[in-house]
Amino acid sequence: MTAQITTVSAYAAPSAKAPLERTTIPRRPVGEFDVLIDIKFAGICHSDIHQARDGWGEGIFPMVPGHEIAGIVTEVGPGVTKFAVGDRAGVGCMVDSCRECDNCKAGLEQYCAKGNVGTYNALDKNGEPTYGGYSTHIVVDENYTVGIPEGLALDEAAPLLCAGITTYSPLKHWNAGPGKKVAVLGMGGLGHMGVKIAHALGAEVTVLSQSLRKREDGLKLGADHYYTTSDPKTFEELAGTFDIILSTVSAPLDFGAFLSLLKTDGALVNVGAPEEPISLNLFSVIAGRKSLSGSGIGGIQETQEMLDFCAEHGLGAEIELIEASQINEAYERVLASDVRYRFVIDTATI
Ligand SMILES: [Zn+2]
Ligand SMILES: [Zn+2]
Repeated sequence: MTAQITTVSAYAAPSAKAPLERTTIPRRPVGEFDVLIDIKFAGICHSDIHQARDGWGEGIFPMVPGHEIAGIVTEVGPGVTKFAVGDRAGVGCMVDSCRECDNCKAGLEQYCAKGNVGTYNALDKNGEPTYGGYSTHIVVDENYTVGIPEGLALDEAAPLLCAGITTYSPLKHWNAGPGKKVAVLGMGGLGHMGVKIAHALGAEVTVLSQSLRKREDGLKLGADHYYTTSDPKTFEELAGTFDIILSTVSAPLDFGAFLSLLKTDGALVNVGAPEEPISLNLFSVIAGRKSLSGSGIGGIQETQEMLDFCAEHGLGAEIELIEASQINEAYERVLASDVRYRFVIDTATI
Protein backbone atom coordinates (compact mmCIF):
# COMPACT_ATOMS: atom_id res chain seq x y z
CA MET A 1 0.00 0.00 0.00
CA THR A 2 1.56 3.25 -1.06
CA ALA A 3 0.82 6.16 1.23
CA GLN A 4 1.14 8.86 -1.35
CA ILE A 5 -1.05 11.71 -2.31
CA THR A 6 -2.20 11.22 -5.86
CA THR A 7 -3.00 13.93 -8.33
CA VAL A 8 -6.18 13.47 -10.34
CA SER A 9 -8.06 15.39 -13.02
CA ALA A 10 -11.04 17.52 -12.09
CA TYR A 11 -13.20 20.44 -13.14
CA ALA A 12 -12.97 23.36 -10.74
CA ALA A 13 -14.14 26.93 -10.30
CA PRO A 14 -10.79 28.72 -9.75
CA SER A 15 -12.55 31.59 -7.97
CA ALA A 16 -16.07 32.72 -7.15
CA LYS A 17 -18.19 33.27 -10.25
CA ALA A 18 -15.40 32.15 -12.60
CA PRO A 19 -16.36 29.47 -15.15
CA LEU A 20 -15.30 25.95 -14.28
CA GLU A 21 -12.20 24.66 -16.04
CA ARG A 22 -10.12 21.49 -16.20
CA THR A 23 -7.43 21.26 -13.55
CA THR A 24 -5.73 18.75 -11.24
CA ILE A 25 -6.32 18.23 -7.52
CA PRO A 26 -4.71 16.12 -4.77
CA ARG A 27 -6.48 13.10 -3.32
CA ARG A 28 -5.30 11.78 0.02
CA PRO A 29 -3.62 8.38 0.32
CA VAL A 30 -6.03 5.48 0.86
CA GLY A 31 -6.17 5.18 4.67
CA GLU A 32 -7.01 2.17 6.79
CA PHE A 33 -10.78 2.59 6.43
CA ASP A 34 -10.84 4.37 3.07
CA VAL A 35 -12.02 3.29 -0.33
CA LEU A 36 -10.69 4.72 -3.59
CA ILE A 37 -13.54 5.19 -6.05
CA ASP A 38 -13.05 5.49 -9.78
CA ILE A 39 -15.84 8.01 -10.42
CA LYS A 40 -17.94 7.18 -13.47
CA PHE A 41 -20.71 9.75 -13.19
CA ALA A 42 -21.42 12.93 -11.22
CA GLY A 43 -24.76 14.73 -11.11
CA ILE A 44 -25.11 18.50 -11.23
CA CYS A 45 -27.15 19.74 -8.26
CA HIS A 46 -28.55 23.27 -8.10
CA SER A 47 -26.54 23.82 -4.93
CA ASP A 48 -23.31 23.19 -6.89
CA ILE A 49 -24.06 26.37 -8.79
CA HIS A 50 -24.87 28.37 -5.64
CA GLN A 51 -21.58 27.33 -4.10
CA ALA A 52 -19.37 27.62 -7.18
CA ARG A 53 -20.71 31.14 -7.63
CA ASP A 54 -20.31 31.80 -3.92
CA GLY A 55 -24.00 32.56 -3.51
CA TRP A 56 -23.84 31.43 0.13
CA GLY A 57 -20.51 33.17 0.87
CA GLU A 58 -17.29 31.79 2.38
CA GLY A 59 -16.64 29.43 -0.51
CA ILE A 60 -13.29 27.62 -0.58
CA PHE A 61 -11.57 28.05 -3.96
CA PRO A 62 -10.53 26.44 -6.18
CA MET A 63 -13.79 24.50 -5.78
CA VAL A 64 -14.58 21.12 -7.30
CA PRO A 65 -18.35 20.72 -6.90
CA GLY A 66 -20.29 17.48 -7.10
CA HIS A 67 -22.08 15.50 -4.39
CA GLU A 68 -23.95 13.02 -6.55
CA ILE A 69 -21.18 10.51 -7.18
CA ALA A 70 -21.39 7.02 -8.65
CA GLY A 71 -18.43 4.81 -9.51
CA ILE A 72 -16.44 1.66 -8.91
CA VAL A 73 -14.19 0.82 -5.96
CA THR A 74 -10.65 0.29 -7.21
CA GLU A 75 -8.71 0.09 -3.95
CA VAL A 76 -9.58 -0.48 -0.29
CA GLY A 77 -7.67 0.20 2.92
CA PRO A 78 -6.63 -2.76 5.13
CA GLY A 79 -9.44 -2.11 7.66
CA VAL A 80 -12.26 -1.88 5.14
CA THR A 81 -14.97 -4.52 5.60
CA LYS A 82 -17.99 -3.20 3.70
CA PHE A 83 -16.49 -2.82 0.24
CA ALA A 84 -14.26 -4.81 -2.08
CA VAL A 85 -12.45 -3.88 -5.27
CA GLY A 86 -14.96 -3.92 -8.13
CA ASP A 87 -17.98 -2.89 -6.03
CA ARG A 88 -20.38 -0.23 -7.31
CA ALA A 89 -20.26 2.65 -4.86
CA GLY A 90 -21.80 6.06 -4.31
CA VAL A 91 -21.01 9.18 -2.31
CA GLY A 92 -23.53 11.88 -1.46
CA CYS A 93 -23.41 15.24 0.29
CA MET A 94 -21.15 14.36 3.22
CA VAL A 95 -17.90 12.46 3.68
CA ASP A 96 -17.52 12.53 7.46
CA SER A 97 -19.05 13.66 10.75
CA CYS A 98 -18.07 13.55 14.45
CA ARG A 99 -19.43 9.98 14.88
CA GLU A 100 -19.94 10.62 18.61
CA CYS A 101 -22.93 12.92 19.05
CA ASP A 102 -26.48 11.65 19.58
CA ASN A 103 -27.42 12.35 15.98
CA CYS A 104 -24.39 10.52 14.56
CA LYS A 105 -25.10 7.54 16.82
CA ALA A 106 -28.74 7.56 15.70
CA GLY A 107 -27.83 7.44 12.00
CA LEU A 108 -28.64 11.10 11.52
CA GLU A 109 -25.12 12.09 10.53
CA GLN A 110 -26.52 14.85 8.32
CA TYR A 111 -27.56 16.64 11.51
CA CYS A 112 -24.24 16.03 13.33
CA ALA A 113 -24.04 18.38 16.30
CA LYS A 114 -20.57 19.45 15.16
CA GLY A 115 -21.62 19.75 11.54
CA ASN A 116 -21.01 17.08 8.93
CA VAL A 117 -18.05 17.38 6.56
CA GLY A 118 -19.36 18.32 3.13
CA THR A 119 -18.18 16.36 0.11
CA TYR A 120 -16.79 19.61 -1.28
CA ASN A 121 -16.35 23.21 -0.16
CA ALA A 122 -15.51 22.02 3.35
CA LEU A 123 -12.46 21.21 5.45
CA ASP A 124 -11.83 17.64 6.56
CA LYS A 125 -10.55 16.59 10.00
CA ASN A 126 -6.99 17.40 8.94
CA GLY A 127 -8.00 20.85 7.79
CA GLU A 128 -7.59 19.95 4.14
CA PRO A 129 -10.21 21.17 1.65
CA THR A 130 -12.62 18.55 0.32
CA TYR A 131 -13.13 18.26 -3.42
CA GLY A 132 -16.28 16.82 -4.96
CA GLY A 133 -17.35 14.57 -7.77
CA TYR A 134 -16.47 16.55 -10.90
CA SER A 135 -13.32 14.49 -10.91
CA THR A 136 -11.97 11.11 -11.95
CA HIS A 137 -11.33 9.68 -8.46
CA ILE A 138 -12.22 10.25 -4.82
CA VAL A 139 -11.01 8.74 -1.54
CA VAL A 140 -13.74 8.36 1.10
CA ASP A 141 -14.10 6.60 4.45
CA GLU A 142 -16.14 3.42 3.94
CA ASN A 143 -18.62 4.55 6.59
CA TYR A 144 -19.63 7.48 4.38
CA THR A 145 -19.80 5.42 1.21
CA VAL A 146 -22.91 3.55 0.04
CA GLY A 147 -23.32 0.57 -2.26
CA ILE A 148 -25.18 1.03 -5.53
CA PRO A 149 -27.26 -2.09 -6.15
CA GLU A 150 -27.15 -3.98 -9.43
CA GLY A 151 -30.28 -3.04 -11.32
CA LEU A 152 -29.63 0.69 -11.05
CA ALA A 153 -27.67 2.13 -13.96
CA LEU A 154 -24.74 4.09 -12.52
CA ASP A 155 -25.55 7.26 -14.48
CA GLU A 156 -29.18 7.26 -13.36
CA ALA A 157 -28.15 6.37 -9.81
CA ALA A 158 -25.78 9.32 -9.35
CA PRO A 159 -28.53 11.95 -8.76
CA LEU A 160 -30.15 9.72 -6.16
CA LEU A 161 -27.23 10.53 -3.83
CA CYS A 162 -28.63 14.04 -3.30
CA ALA A 163 -31.97 14.47 -5.09
CA GLY A 164 -33.11 10.95 -4.20
CA ILE A 165 -32.28 10.97 -0.51
CA THR A 166 -33.40 14.58 -0.01
CA THR A 167 -36.92 13.60 -1.08
CA TYR A 168 -36.97 10.02 0.25
CA SER A 169 -36.04 10.93 3.82
CA PRO A 170 -38.92 13.38 4.50
CA LEU A 171 -41.44 11.22 2.61
CA LYS A 172 -40.54 8.32 4.90
CA HIS A 173 -40.39 10.46 8.03
CA TRP A 174 -43.86 11.91 7.44
CA ASN A 175 -45.22 8.47 6.50
CA ALA A 176 -46.03 8.87 2.83
CA GLY A 177 -47.74 5.66 1.77
CA PRO A 178 -51.07 4.06 0.92
CA GLY A 179 -54.05 6.22 1.90
CA LYS A 180 -51.90 9.38 2.09
CA LYS A 181 -52.19 12.34 -0.22
CA VAL A 182 -48.84 13.87 -1.07
CA ALA A 183 -48.25 17.05 -3.04
CA VAL A 184 -44.85 17.68 -4.58
CA LEU A 185 -44.23 21.36 -5.10
CA GLY A 186 -41.88 21.96 -8.04
CA MET A 187 -41.01 19.58 -10.91
CA GLY A 188 -37.24 19.93 -11.13
CA GLY A 189 -34.33 17.69 -10.16
CA LEU A 190 -35.65 17.14 -6.63
CA GLY A 191 -39.35 17.26 -7.50
CA HIS A 192 -39.22 14.62 -10.21
CA MET A 193 -37.61 12.19 -7.76
CA GLY A 194 -40.16 13.16 -5.11
CA VAL A 195 -42.94 12.18 -7.51
CA LYS A 196 -41.34 8.84 -8.37
CA ILE A 197 -40.60 7.92 -4.75
CA ALA A 198 -43.95 9.06 -3.30
CA HIS A 199 -45.74 7.06 -5.99
CA ALA A 200 -43.60 3.97 -5.32
CA LEU A 201 -44.36 4.31 -1.60
CA GLY A 202 -48.03 3.98 -2.49
CA ALA A 203 -49.22 7.54 -1.89
CA GLU A 204 -51.65 9.47 -4.09
CA VAL A 205 -49.41 12.07 -5.69
CA THR A 206 -50.22 15.56 -6.92
CA VAL A 207 -47.72 17.86 -8.59
CA LEU A 208 -48.07 21.57 -7.92
CA SER A 209 -46.05 23.41 -10.53
CA GLN A 210 -45.78 26.97 -11.80
CA SER A 211 -47.12 25.88 -15.18
CA LEU A 212 -48.54 22.81 -16.89
CA ARG A 213 -45.48 22.61 -19.15
CA LYS A 214 -44.19 19.36 -17.57
CA ARG A 215 -47.63 17.84 -16.94
CA GLU A 216 -47.16 14.91 -19.30
CA ASP A 217 -43.82 14.02 -17.70
CA GLY A 218 -45.27 14.31 -14.21
CA LEU A 219 -48.10 11.92 -14.95
CA LYS A 220 -45.69 9.51 -16.65
CA LEU A 221 -43.36 9.53 -13.62
CA GLY A 222 -46.19 8.56 -11.28
CA ALA A 223 -48.28 11.63 -10.41
CA ASP A 224 -52.03 11.08 -10.22
CA HIS A 225 -52.87 14.78 -10.57
CA TYR A 226 -51.13 17.87 -11.85
CA TYR A 227 -52.09 21.45 -11.03
CA THR A 228 -50.62 24.84 -11.73
CA THR A 229 -50.05 27.19 -8.81
CA SER A 230 -50.47 30.20 -11.10
CA ASP A 231 -54.24 29.57 -11.21
CA PRO A 232 -56.01 30.80 -8.04
CA LYS A 233 -58.69 28.13 -8.61
CA THR A 234 -56.09 25.47 -7.70
CA PHE A 235 -56.05 26.80 -4.14
CA GLU A 236 -59.86 26.78 -3.91
CA GLU A 237 -60.19 23.30 -5.32
CA LEU A 238 -57.42 21.70 -3.25
CA ALA A 239 -58.09 23.42 0.11
CA GLY A 240 -57.65 20.95 2.99
CA THR A 241 -56.52 18.10 0.70
CA PHE A 242 -53.00 16.96 1.58
CA ASP A 243 -51.33 15.05 4.37
CA ILE A 244 -47.89 16.14 3.17
CA ILE A 245 -46.68 18.89 0.90
CA LEU A 246 -43.04 18.46 -0.07
CA SER A 247 -41.70 21.81 -1.25
CA THR A 248 -38.63 21.49 -3.46
CA VAL A 249 -38.59 25.12 -4.54
CA SER A 250 -36.25 27.83 -3.29
CA ALA A 251 -38.22 30.77 -4.70
CA PRO A 252 -40.18 32.87 -2.19
CA LEU A 253 -43.60 31.28 -1.56
CA ASP A 254 -46.91 32.37 -0.07
CA PHE A 255 -46.61 29.83 2.76
CA GLY A 256 -50.03 30.71 4.14
CA ALA A 257 -51.65 29.76 0.85
CA PHE A 258 -49.85 26.40 0.71
CA LEU A 259 -50.60 25.62 4.37
CA SER A 260 -54.29 26.06 3.52
CA LEU A 261 -53.99 23.03 1.23
CA LEU A 262 -53.12 20.75 4.17
CA LYS A 263 -55.54 18.57 6.09
CA THR A 264 -55.64 18.77 9.89
CA ASP A 265 -52.25 17.52 11.19
CA GLY A 266 -50.73 17.90 7.74
CA ALA A 267 -47.13 18.97 7.22
CA LEU A 268 -45.55 21.35 4.73
CA VAL A 269 -41.96 20.14 4.50
CA ASN A 270 -39.29 22.27 2.90
CA VAL A 271 -36.22 20.79 1.26
CA GLY A 272 -35.58 24.00 -0.65
CA ALA A 273 -35.32 27.38 1.06
CA PRO A 274 -35.81 30.94 -0.14
CA GLU A 275 -32.82 33.18 0.58
CA GLU A 276 -34.89 35.73 2.50
CA PRO A 277 -36.60 35.07 5.85
CA ILE A 278 -40.34 34.50 5.59
CA SER A 279 -43.25 36.22 7.27
CA LEU A 280 -46.21 34.06 8.27
CA ASN A 281 -49.51 34.51 10.06
CA LEU A 282 -49.33 31.70 12.64
CA PHE A 283 -53.05 31.06 12.43
CA SER A 284 -52.07 29.23 9.21
CA VAL A 285 -50.70 26.45 11.42
CA ILE A 286 -52.81 26.90 14.57
CA ALA A 287 -56.03 26.28 12.69
CA GLY A 288 -55.69 22.59 11.86
CA ARG A 289 -52.66 21.76 14.05
CA LYS A 290 -50.45 21.94 10.98
CA SER A 291 -46.68 21.83 10.76
CA LEU A 292 -44.25 23.90 8.76
CA SER A 293 -41.08 21.82 8.69
CA GLY A 294 -37.82 21.20 6.93
CA SER A 295 -35.56 18.27 6.12
CA GLY A 296 -31.97 17.96 4.93
CA ILE A 297 -30.61 15.01 2.90
CA GLY A 298 -30.60 11.79 4.99
CA GLY A 299 -28.28 9.62 7.08
CA ILE A 300 -25.85 7.13 5.56
CA GLN A 301 -27.90 4.06 6.47
CA GLU A 302 -31.04 5.73 5.18
CA THR A 303 -29.24 6.62 1.95
CA GLN A 304 -28.43 2.93 1.49
CA GLU A 305 -32.08 2.07 2.23
CA MET A 306 -33.17 4.63 -0.39
CA LEU A 307 -30.85 3.13 -3.03
CA ASP A 308 -32.14 -0.37 -2.28
CA PHE A 309 -35.72 0.92 -2.50
CA CYS A 310 -35.04 2.65 -5.81
CA ALA A 311 -33.38 -0.47 -7.23
CA GLU A 312 -36.31 -2.62 -6.13
CA HIS A 313 -38.78 -0.26 -7.80
CA GLY A 314 -36.65 0.57 -10.85
CA LEU A 315 -36.37 4.24 -9.95
CA GLY A 316 -33.42 5.96 -11.56
CA ALA A 317 -33.29 9.69 -12.14
CA GLU A 318 -34.31 11.14 -15.51
CA ILE A 319 -31.02 12.45 -16.82
CA GLU A 320 -29.25 14.31 -19.60
CA LEU A 321 -25.73 12.94 -19.89
CA ILE A 322 -23.12 15.57 -20.74
CA GLU A 323 -19.38 15.85 -21.28
CA ALA A 324 -17.29 17.81 -18.80
CA SER A 325 -16.71 20.57 -21.35
CA GLN A 326 -20.46 21.30 -21.22
CA ILE A 327 -20.60 21.98 -17.46
CA ASN A 328 -20.73 25.77 -17.72
CA GLU A 329 -23.44 25.61 -20.36
CA ALA A 330 -25.35 23.11 -18.21
CA TYR A 331 -25.18 25.53 -15.26
CA GLU A 332 -26.91 28.20 -17.35
CA ARG A 333 -29.57 25.71 -18.38
CA VAL A 334 -30.18 24.62 -14.77
CA LEU A 335 -30.65 28.27 -13.80
CA ALA A 336 -33.16 28.61 -16.65
CA SER A 337 -34.98 25.42 -15.50
CA ASP A 338 -34.08 23.96 -18.89
CA VAL A 339 -33.20 20.39 -17.91
CA ARG A 340 -35.24 17.21 -17.74
CA TYR A 341 -34.43 16.52 -15.01
CA ARG A 342 -30.79 16.22 -13.96
CA PHE A 343 -27.54 16.80 -15.81
CA VAL A 344 -25.02 14.03 -15.21
CA ILE A 345 -21.37 14.40 -16.18
CA ASP A 346 -19.66 11.46 -17.85
CA THR A 347 -16.42 11.76 -15.88
CA ALA A 348 -14.48 9.85 -18.53
CA THR A 349 -14.51 13.20 -20.38
CA ILE A 350 -12.70 14.98 -17.52
ZN1 LIG B 1 -27.47 18.51 -3.92
ZN1 LIG C 1 -21.93 14.02 15.16
